[in-house]
Amino acid sequence: ERTGDVILAAEGLTKEFRGFAAVRDVNLKVHAGSIHALIGPNGAGKTTVFNLLTRFMPATRGRILYRGQDIGRTGPAKVARQGLVRSFQISAVFPHLTVLDNVRVALQRPRHLATQWWRPLSTLRSLDDRAMELLTAVQLADKADLTAGELSYGRKRALELATTLALDPQVLLLDEPMAGMGHEDIHHVADLIRQVAKGRTVLMVEHNLNVVSQLCDTITVLARGEILAEGTYTQVSADPQVREAYMGS
Ligand code: ADP
Repeated sequence: ERTGDVILAAEGLTKEFRGFAAVRDVNLKVHAGSIHALIGPNGAGKTTVFNLLTRFMPATRGRILYRGQDIGRTGPAKVARQGLVRSFQISAVFPHLTVLDNVRVALQRPRHLATQWWRPLSTLRSLDDRAMELLTAVQLADKADLTAGELSYGRKRALELATTLALDPQVLLLDEPMAGMGHEDIHHVADLIRQVAKGRTVLMVEHNLNVVSQLCDTITVLARGEILAEGTYTQVSADPQVREAYMGS
Protein backbone atom coordinates (compact mmCIF):
# COMPACT_ATOMS: atom_id res chain seq x y z
CA GLU A 1 0.00 0.00 0.00
CA ARG A 2 1.16 3.44 -0.80
CA THR A 3 0.55 6.34 1.53
CA GLY A 4 -3.04 7.43 1.16
CA ASP A 5 -4.37 4.12 -0.17
CA VAL A 6 -7.12 2.48 1.86
CA ILE A 7 -5.34 -0.15 3.95
CA LEU A 8 -8.20 -1.13 6.25
CA ALA A 9 -11.91 -0.80 5.58
CA ALA A 10 -15.19 -1.79 7.14
CA GLU A 11 -18.29 -2.06 4.99
CA GLY A 12 -21.68 -2.25 6.60
CA LEU A 13 -20.11 -3.59 9.76
CA THR A 14 -22.72 -4.58 12.32
CA LYS A 15 -22.52 -6.36 15.65
CA GLU A 16 -25.62 -7.38 17.53
CA PHE A 17 -25.73 -8.74 21.05
CA ARG A 18 -29.07 -10.51 21.52
CA GLY A 19 -30.66 -8.21 18.98
CA PHE A 20 -29.06 -5.04 20.39
CA ALA A 21 -26.88 -3.38 17.76
CA ALA A 22 -23.69 -2.28 19.53
CA VAL A 23 -22.26 -1.41 16.11
CA ARG A 24 -24.59 -0.63 13.25
CA ASP A 25 -23.75 -0.41 9.56
CA VAL A 26 -20.33 1.17 10.06
CA ASN A 27 -18.43 2.15 6.93
CA LEU A 28 -14.87 3.08 7.72
CA LYS A 29 -11.82 3.72 5.57
CA VAL A 30 -8.40 3.92 7.14
CA HIS A 31 -5.72 5.32 4.86
CA ALA A 32 -2.17 3.98 4.83
CA GLY A 33 0.22 6.26 6.68
CA SER A 34 -2.47 8.09 8.61
CA ILE A 35 -3.07 8.42 12.32
CA HIS A 36 -6.80 7.88 12.60
CA ALA A 37 -8.80 8.34 15.79
CA LEU A 38 -12.01 6.67 16.81
CA ILE A 39 -13.78 8.77 19.40
CA GLY A 40 -17.20 8.87 20.99
CA PRO A 41 -19.03 8.75 24.29
CA ASN A 42 -18.95 5.67 26.52
CA GLY A 43 -20.91 2.80 25.06
CA ALA A 44 -20.59 4.21 21.53
CA GLY A 45 -19.16 0.93 20.24
CA LYS A 46 -15.47 1.83 19.91
CA THR A 47 -14.15 -1.28 21.66
CA THR A 48 -16.55 -3.46 19.71
CA VAL A 49 -15.26 -1.98 16.43
CA PHE A 50 -11.69 -2.81 17.54
CA ASN A 51 -12.78 -6.34 18.45
CA LEU A 52 -14.40 -6.79 15.05
CA LEU A 53 -11.54 -5.32 13.01
CA THR A 54 -8.95 -7.50 14.76
CA ARG A 55 -11.24 -10.55 14.43
CA PHE A 56 -11.43 -11.03 18.20
CA MET A 57 -15.17 -11.15 17.67
CA PRO A 58 -17.25 -12.24 14.69
CA ALA A 59 -19.37 -9.57 13.03
CA THR A 60 -23.09 -10.13 12.66
CA ARG A 61 -22.98 -8.52 9.23
CA GLY A 62 -20.61 -6.63 7.01
CA ARG A 63 -17.14 -6.94 5.58
CA ILE A 64 -13.65 -6.14 6.75
CA LEU A 65 -11.02 -5.53 4.12
CA TYR A 66 -7.36 -5.46 5.06
CA ARG A 67 -4.97 -4.64 2.23
CA GLY A 68 -7.74 -5.39 -0.20
CA GLN A 69 -8.44 -8.87 1.22
CA ASP A 70 -11.64 -9.87 2.96
CA ILE A 71 -10.48 -11.04 6.41
CA GLY A 72 -13.98 -11.86 7.63
CA ARG A 73 -13.06 -15.51 8.14
CA THR A 74 -9.45 -15.11 9.20
CA GLY A 75 -8.53 -15.85 12.82
CA PRO A 76 -7.14 -13.12 15.09
CA ALA A 77 -3.65 -14.63 15.35
CA LYS A 78 -3.33 -14.86 11.59
CA VAL A 79 -4.61 -11.32 11.16
CA ALA A 80 -1.90 -10.18 13.60
CA ARG A 81 0.76 -12.09 11.69
CA GLN A 82 -0.40 -10.29 8.57
CA GLY A 83 0.38 -7.01 10.28
CA LEU A 84 -2.93 -5.84 11.74
CA VAL A 85 -1.96 -5.69 15.39
CA ARG A 86 -3.71 -4.50 18.49
CA SER A 87 -1.69 -2.97 21.29
CA PHE A 88 -2.43 -5.39 24.10
CA GLN A 89 -2.17 -8.43 21.88
CA ILE A 90 1.32 -9.37 23.02
CA SER A 91 1.99 -6.41 25.20
CA ALA A 92 1.97 -8.14 28.57
CA VAL A 93 4.96 -6.67 30.36
CA PHE A 94 6.77 -9.14 32.61
CA PRO A 95 7.75 -7.05 35.65
CA HIS A 96 10.58 -9.33 36.83
CA LEU A 97 12.32 -9.47 33.46
CA THR A 98 14.59 -6.71 32.31
CA VAL A 99 13.34 -4.19 29.80
CA LEU A 100 15.59 -5.74 27.16
CA ASP A 101 14.42 -9.28 27.92
CA ASN A 102 10.80 -8.20 27.61
CA VAL A 103 11.48 -7.13 24.05
CA ARG A 104 13.57 -10.25 23.37
CA VAL A 105 10.63 -12.41 24.44
CA ALA A 106 8.31 -10.47 22.16
CA LEU A 107 10.69 -10.92 19.25
CA GLN A 108 11.00 -14.68 19.74
CA ARG A 109 7.66 -15.47 18.34
CA PRO A 110 7.18 -18.43 16.01
CA ARG A 111 7.27 -16.29 12.90
CA HIS A 112 10.69 -14.93 13.70
CA LEU A 113 12.05 -18.34 14.67
CA ALA A 114 10.58 -19.92 11.57
CA THR A 115 12.57 -17.62 9.34
CA GLN A 116 15.75 -17.76 11.39
CA TRP A 117 16.16 -21.25 12.92
CA TRP A 118 18.79 -22.25 10.39
CA ARG A 119 21.23 -19.58 11.46
CA PRO A 120 21.05 -19.65 15.24
CA LEU A 121 24.25 -17.68 15.96
CA SER A 122 23.39 -14.76 13.77
CA THR A 123 19.83 -15.00 15.05
CA LEU A 124 20.93 -14.28 18.59
CA ARG A 125 23.00 -11.38 17.42
CA SER A 126 20.27 -9.89 15.24
CA LEU A 127 17.70 -10.48 17.96
CA ASP A 128 19.68 -8.30 20.35
CA ASP A 129 20.24 -5.65 17.70
CA ARG A 130 16.57 -5.60 16.83
CA ALA A 131 15.57 -5.45 20.52
CA MET A 132 17.86 -2.46 21.08
CA GLU A 133 16.50 -0.80 17.92
CA LEU A 134 12.98 -1.12 19.27
CA LEU A 135 14.01 0.20 22.68
CA THR A 136 15.70 3.14 20.99
CA ALA A 137 12.52 3.82 19.01
CA VAL A 138 10.57 4.19 22.26
CA GLN A 139 13.42 6.01 24.05
CA LEU A 140 14.09 3.22 26.51
CA ALA A 141 17.58 2.21 25.37
CA ASP A 142 19.15 3.63 28.51
CA LYS A 143 16.70 1.62 30.64
CA ALA A 144 17.46 -1.74 28.97
CA ASP A 145 18.93 -3.37 32.08
CA LEU A 146 16.33 -2.24 34.59
CA THR A 147 13.58 -4.68 35.45
CA ALA A 148 10.31 -3.67 33.83
CA GLY A 149 8.71 -3.36 37.26
CA GLU A 150 11.04 -0.46 38.05
CA LEU A 151 9.72 1.66 35.19
CA SER A 152 7.28 4.51 35.66
CA TYR A 153 3.75 4.00 34.39
CA GLY A 154 4.39 6.02 31.24
CA ARG A 155 7.58 4.12 30.46
CA LYS A 156 5.82 0.80 30.99
CA ARG A 157 3.39 1.84 28.30
CA ALA A 158 6.35 2.74 26.09
CA LEU A 159 7.74 -0.76 26.71
CA GLU A 160 4.36 -2.25 25.76
CA LEU A 161 4.58 -0.27 22.56
CA ALA A 162 8.03 -1.72 21.87
CA THR A 163 6.77 -5.27 22.41
CA THR A 164 3.87 -4.55 20.07
CA LEU A 165 6.27 -3.17 17.46
CA ALA A 166 8.13 -6.48 17.71
CA LEU A 167 5.22 -7.96 15.74
CA ASP A 168 6.16 -5.61 12.92
CA PRO A 169 2.67 -4.15 12.51
CA GLN A 170 1.59 -2.35 9.38
CA VAL A 171 -1.59 -1.20 11.04
CA LEU A 172 -1.33 -0.58 14.75
CA LEU A 173 -4.53 -0.39 16.79
CA LEU A 174 -4.07 1.44 20.06
CA ASP A 175 -6.79 1.27 22.68
CA GLU A 176 -6.63 4.41 24.82
CA PRO A 177 -2.84 4.67 24.82
CA MET A 178 -2.91 7.68 27.15
CA ALA A 179 -5.36 6.24 29.68
CA GLY A 180 -4.42 6.99 33.27
CA MET A 181 -1.46 9.18 32.35
CA GLY A 182 -0.41 12.52 33.68
CA HIS A 183 0.43 15.53 31.57
CA GLU A 184 4.14 14.73 31.13
CA ASP A 185 3.60 11.11 30.11
CA ILE A 186 0.87 12.11 27.67
CA HIS A 187 3.28 14.38 25.82
CA HIS A 188 5.94 11.71 25.82
CA VAL A 189 3.64 8.97 24.52
CA ALA A 190 2.17 11.33 21.90
CA ASP A 191 5.71 11.91 20.62
CA LEU A 192 6.35 8.17 20.57
CA ILE A 193 3.16 7.49 18.62
CA ARG A 194 4.17 10.14 16.12
CA GLN A 195 7.54 8.39 15.78
CA VAL A 196 6.23 4.85 15.44
CA ALA A 197 3.54 5.99 13.01
CA LYS A 198 6.23 6.77 10.45
CA GLY A 199 5.87 4.13 7.75
CA ARG A 200 2.87 2.64 9.53
CA THR A 201 -0.82 3.27 9.99
CA VAL A 202 -2.29 3.93 13.41
CA LEU A 203 -5.93 3.59 14.43
CA MET A 204 -6.51 4.67 18.01
CA VAL A 205 -9.33 5.01 20.49
CA GLU A 206 -8.56 8.03 22.62
CA HIS A 207 -10.61 10.14 25.01
CA ASN A 208 -8.22 13.03 25.32
CA LEU A 209 -9.47 15.34 22.56
CA ASN A 210 -6.50 17.62 22.97
CA VAL A 211 -4.23 14.70 22.07
CA VAL A 212 -6.50 13.68 19.22
CA SER A 213 -6.54 17.18 17.77
CA GLN A 214 -2.75 17.36 17.75
CA LEU A 215 -1.94 13.82 16.71
CA CYS A 216 -4.62 12.55 14.36
CA ASP A 217 -5.21 13.27 10.66
CA THR A 218 -8.70 11.81 10.55
CA ILE A 219 -11.28 11.48 13.27
CA THR A 220 -14.29 9.20 13.17
CA VAL A 221 -16.95 9.97 15.74
CA LEU A 222 -19.08 7.06 16.85
CA ALA A 223 -22.29 7.37 18.88
CA ARG A 224 -24.78 4.63 19.72
CA GLY A 225 -23.00 2.27 17.36
CA GLU A 226 -23.16 4.52 14.33
CA ILE A 227 -20.80 6.94 12.66
CA LEU A 228 -21.88 10.45 13.52
CA ALA A 229 -19.18 12.41 11.75
CA GLU A 230 -15.81 12.02 10.12
CA GLY A 231 -13.07 14.37 9.05
CA THR A 232 -10.34 16.52 10.47
CA TYR A 233 -10.58 17.60 14.08
CA THR A 234 -11.69 21.08 12.99
CA GLN A 235 -14.45 19.57 10.87
CA VAL A 236 -15.85 17.12 13.41
CA SER A 237 -15.60 19.49 16.36
CA ALA A 238 -17.71 22.04 14.48
CA ASP A 239 -20.44 19.46 13.81
CA PRO A 240 -23.60 20.20 15.82
CA GLN A 241 -24.40 16.48 16.18
CA VAL A 242 -20.96 15.81 17.61
CA ARG A 243 -21.33 18.68 20.05
CA GLU A 244 -24.70 17.32 21.11
CA ALA A 245 -23.35 13.77 21.60
CA TYR A 246 -20.55 15.08 23.78
CA MET A 247 -22.85 17.37 25.76
CA GLY A 248 -25.07 14.34 26.34
CA SER A 249 -28.23 16.18 25.41
P1 ADP B 1 -17.17 1.90 23.93
O1 ADP B 1 -15.90 1.16 23.75
O2 ADP B 1 -17.37 2.97 22.91
O3 ADP B 1 -17.36 2.43 25.32
P2 ADP B 1 -18.39 -0.73 23.65
O4 ADP B 1 -18.01 -1.20 22.30
O5 ADP B 1 -17.64 -1.27 24.81
O6 ADP B 1 -18.39 0.88 23.68
O7 ADP B 1 -19.94 -1.05 23.89
C1 ADP B 1 -20.95 -0.67 22.98
C2 ADP B 1 -22.29 -1.21 23.47
O8 ADP B 1 -22.32 -2.61 23.33
C3 ADP B 1 -22.56 -0.92 24.92
O9 ADP B 1 -23.94 -0.63 25.07
C4 ADP B 1 -22.20 -2.21 25.62
O10 ADP B 1 -22.96 -2.38 26.78
C5 ADP B 1 -22.58 -3.24 24.57
N1 ADP B 1 -21.73 -4.43 24.65
C6 ADP B 1 -20.39 -4.49 24.46
N2 ADP B 1 -19.92 -5.74 24.57
C7 ADP B 1 -21.00 -6.52 24.85
C8 ADP B 1 -21.19 -7.93 25.09
N3 ADP B 1 -20.16 -8.80 25.05
N4 ADP B 1 -22.45 -8.36 25.34
C9 ADP B 1 -23.49 -7.49 25.36
N5 ADP B 1 -23.39 -6.18 25.15
C10 ADP B 1 -22.16 -5.69 24.90
